[in-house]
Parts: sequence; C-alpha cells; structure tokens
Amino acid sequence: MTWGRVARWTVGALALGSVVAAAQDVAAPPQVRTEASAVEPTDAGVDGGIDAADASGNVILIIGDGMDDQQITMARNYLVGVRGKLVIDSMPVRGAVQVLTVTDDDPGKPVFVADSANSGTAMATGVVTSRGRIATSAGKDEDLPTIVELARKAGLRTGIVATSSVADATPASFMAHINYRFCQSPAAMVQVERKGVVIGDCSQDLKKNGGLGSIAEQVAASGVDVLLGGGGEHFAPNVEGGDHSVRRAAEEAGYQVVTTGAALVAAPTDKKLLGLFSPDTMPVRLRGEGGRVGEKPERSALNYLHWALGTVDQPAPMKCEDNPEFAGVPTLKQMGEAALRHLSAPGDDTPFFLMIESASIDKQAHKRNPCGSIGELQQLDEVVRSALDFADAHPGTLVIVTSDHGSGAHIIPDRSLFATFPVPIYTPGHLVRVTTPEGATMAVNYATNDFPLEEHTGVQVPIFANELGREVIAPVIAQPDLFGIVKAHLGL
Ligand SMILES: [Zn+2]
Repeated sequence: MTWGRVARWTVGALALGSVVAAAQDVAAPPQVRTEASAVEPTDAGVDGGIDAADASGNVILIIGDGMDDQQITMARNYLVGVRGKLVIDSMPVRGAVQVLTVTDDDPGKPVFVADSANSGTAMATGVVTSRGRIATSAGKDEDLPTIVELARKAGLRTGIVATSSVADATPASFMAHINYRFCQSPAAMVQVERKGVVIGDCSQDLKKNGGLGSIAEQVAASGVDVLLGGGGEHFAPNVEGGDHSVRRAAEEAGYQVVTTGAALVAAPTDKKLLGLFSPDTMPVRLRGEGGRVGEKPERSALNYLHWALGTVDQPAPMKCEDNPEFAGVPTLKQMGEAALRHLSAPGDDTPFFLMIESASIDKQAHKRNPCGSIGELQQLDEVVRSALDFADAHPGTLVIVTSDHGSGAHIIPDRSLFATFPVPIYTPGHLVRVTTPEGATMAVNYATNDFPLEEHTGVQVPIFANELGREVIAPVIAQPDLFGIVKAHLGL
C-alpha cells in the first residue's frame, strides 16, 4: 500500500466516523459484468392452469437475517426465559445449514464469512456466489434464474415480505439481478457512496448499457404478486432515462401501492400489491434503555500500564424498552398475514411461494444492539406462528425457517470463569448487560472488529421446518440445497 492510499483510506475512515446510522455491510464490490447475461423472462403469465387438486405445494420460506444460535438463545432467554420455548422451538424438523461463499476472482476458492447478498442468492438460485452479488454468478456476472422467476413462469403466485427495504439484499436476491447490492435505486447506480466513500459501481447494469437497471426498477417490473416492506426512498427517483418515478412505474405495471398499516389491511386482494412502509429499513420493535448499545468497559489509568493492575468497570446493566419509532408501522406478523391473505384469496387455489424476512436481527447486531435483535427475532417468531397456523389450515404448505449467515453477538459470562484470579478481566470488545425479565443479567459481547459496524461470522446456521420437511430436509444441508427443496415442493 502506498502512502497515497494510506492517506485516502485515512480520510475515508474519518468520514466514516459517524457511520453507525447505516448498519449495512460494506462488502467489496465484485468485478464488473464481463458478458451479456441470459435473463430469465419475468413477465410470464401468472394464471396458469393448475387445478385445485394440485394446490398442495405452497412454500413459506422465513429467513431470520443473521439469526444464528447465539441470536436464538439470546431471544429465548429474554422473551420466554431459559426454560421457555419459542415457536420455532416447537417445529418438528431441525437441522443445520452450511453457508457457502466464494471469491469473485476465483470461484473455486472459499470465503468463510458470507453477506446477505451471496447467501440470499444461494437460497434463491441454488448457486454459490461472491459477496455483494444479487442473483449473479461470481466472476462471470451471469444472471441466475431465481425460484420466484421459475414459480412465476409456471403460473404460481409469489410474495416477498421483509422488514428491510424490499430492494435490500435478501429480498432482491429473489427477484433481481445485479452485481452489487447497494445499487438499490436509479440514483445509486454509478460510483455508489456511503459517507463520502465510494463502495461500489453498477454501471454495467444500467439499462443504457444493456442491463436491467437498479434493483428497485427490477422489483417494480418483477410481477411478484405481493411485495411488502420498507424502501420507499429507493422508489422515489425517476426511472433511468424516464420522467416518472420507480413507484409510478410499479403502478403502471399494475401494482396498488400502500404506505400505511390501515391501507395494507384495506387493500383488495385481486390486484398486485406493493407496500412501502418506511423510507428504508423499517423501525425495529425494541431498543436498549435510552437507546444505549454496546459499550466498552472503562479501564483505570493503572490498567493501561499493566493488564493485571488497576480496575475495569463494566457497562451498567440495562433493560430493553419499546422503540418509539416502531409505533404505527405494520408488524412482520401483520405483513406476513396480509401476504398470505393475498396469495390464498378465496377461489384461487394456485400454489404460491412466499419469502418472509426479519431483516434487522442482523442489522441490529451490526449496531451492537441485542435488544434490537431480540425484538426482531420476536417478530420472526410471531410470523412463524402465523405461517404454521396457515399450514394447519392448508395441508401441503411447507414452512421452512432458516437464517442466511451468522452475526457478531456472543453470550459471554457476566462473571468471568476466571474471576477468582485477583486481576481485572474484561472484553476487548463492546458489551451489553441485559437485565432479563427474571432479574438476571445476560452479558452480550461484540468483538469482531474496531469499526462502528460489527462483522458477520462464518458459523453454520439453523433450519427448522414443519412435518412436511421431514422427508426432504436432511439433518445437514448446504445453503444452495434449499433452492432444490423449495423447487421440488412447488412442483417445478
Ligand atoms: Zn449484515
């Protein structure tokens, strides 16, 4: 690295000093498109001739972003107590998923920690790719057909629900093709910046260069029957080369656009539905007391002189509290149930594929906010209940719950295992000591880096299913296997 590069990165680092607000992965952008892509048609007819007798192949895939076993344990401890059971704990089929990622310049070489773009792509297309990519192949940048596109082509109904922007990495992986996840809107296609630092570029995916345009433009043209989440700001800019907004383009493509919970409930089910309930990521349910997140233990001057001397004060314990910004926004359960109503309208027994994502388990882990993650895992657990109830009433509905990758939180001892030694023992990372409802203290540690945003981790992730999953989900699968499992159940 030259001194010039050091200087640039130093300036960039200073500009990033207050980056905490944007809890998103800044994955290195993959290489540019190298050859023309074979785009799966996305305008196939949706009303195929599938009769009611065959209507037993619904799939509801629920993804907890960053929901590893640490997150599930944290949420269980806090929400129902250590001896309690979450809804996912009642699911009869349980296994592990190996998360696979490759480098972009050598797709034969593994990378051991994923982001939501490549892991979403693995589930949506069955292909292992590199970080940052949305349904495109590593290195070659070829568009990979998604399960949503295949379902639509076969005349099935489709739905996407997320608490992130509907153009964010996980939902986008099911309905768009682009080399870099942060190209969400037509205004963010060239030299995409975060806090003054260029983090990527999607010039080769501009329509004028033969591409499909930004993620929001692709979402508006996706034909997915019901799309609910955040991300309104990505639909506000004009379409590339046009004089109307992406939102307008969605309306012209037949979408009714709603922005409030009341409008969501009142929306007719005979029209395609696009719900945009916040500018970007939807507000989360819980937060730390007074907005507190992970804090570093405070070391005395003497401790700086020698690790065994002086004192180290841990952050004070705190409770989780309601996030005031959450008031009034639809819950994930409300969105999931609205999508199920939409996809199973009386008189229409066409099978459907529905992906539901609780996105901010991960985004709150980036911010070192266990309360935020716990509230979003609670939202996931509630919508799992709705999905299981739906499956009980609609036999043949396969319900799968899984995660895309691990996140940075770890439950550590609140009193060190080595506390009998007369020295200060503390985490070099950030700590939150959560007071649980039974009055105990759960210490959650974040120590993957010294950046304002915590990393992901490379652990295998859990998978759960209802009884229908027993014959088709092996105890240990690779993440891309999910594509085949879903495809087979949909009858594709
Ligand atoms: Zn993340």
